[in-house]
Amino acid sequence: MSKDLVIITGASSGIGEAIARAFSAVGHPLLLIARRVDKLKALNLPDTLCVGVDVCDKISMQKSIDNAIEKYGSVGCLVNNAGVMSFGNVGKQSSKEWQAMIETNVIGMINGIECVVNAMKKQRMGTIINISSIAGYKTLQNAAVYCASKYAVNAFSETLRSELAEYNVRVIVIAPGGVKTDLHTHMEDKQMMNDYKKWIQSIHLLEPSELADMVVHSYKLPQHVCLRQVIIAPTNQTI
Ligand code: NDP
Repeated sequence: MSKDLVIITGASSGIGEAIARAFSAVGHPLLLIARRVDKLKALNLPDTLCVGVDVCDKISMQKSIDNAIEKYGSVGCLVNNAGVMSFGNVGKQSSKEWQAMIETNVIGMINGIECVVNAMKKQRMGTIINISSIAGYKTLQNAAVYCASKYAVNAFSETLRSELAEYNVRVIVIAPGGVKTDLHTHMEDKQMMNDYKKWIQSIHLLEPSELADMVVHSYKLPQHVCLRQVIIAPTNQTI
């Protein structure tokens, strides 16, 4: 393939799906990772491998990435997008729910990075894009664990960027405000979910494609230019 392989986690819906479509449109071969492999396959994108893998399962991720490299060549970009968000109060929120946020948003991201980082260092080229959130810059009510997970994404990315600088590998953080996706639909606390729904109805949510355009733009900049952090939110979002 003439263009580098792009790996996207959480590509079965929302922002990840839009990022997959956007990279495919400019000719990149793709490895798409999510648990719902049927949704990945339904995108029907050319030169694309789809795997039903949980980002918490590092061994399966590594196997899929190795297969994709064998088929399409070196990894140009890893987009760590897979994430979950549930609101709840500390002591009330179920361990299952808050642990899923730490495992997916933090450990899943680190797993993805560990799978590609040594190859990127060796080839002295590559880009890691971590999808954070405004919740990684501001604390939000009822979202202690979600905010903690996204602050962790930002802190990890900062240190990683300085570690990888001498290897010519970029680390980019894209932090969205409200985007029109299903992210909020899995919360156990229905009252908090409904309050969140009301809030998002009051703002002009971004389209997933608007996020995807920013991701592809940051990747297409020359390798010596690193757009370190982007916070991108609806203009009428006050938080
Ligand atoms: P969606 O719920 O539409 O997408 C989440 C994606 O993550 C799905 O493809 C899901 O796939 C995948 N995913 C979740 N858990 C796992 C897992 N354990 N292993 C593999 N894949 C997983 O939401 P968004 O598109 O909105 O979310 C994408 C990212 O954007 C998240 O990191 C989120 O925190 C961030 N974000 C979103 C904002 C918004 O307003 N929408 C605002 C700020 C940040 P599957 O279920 O098939 O595994």
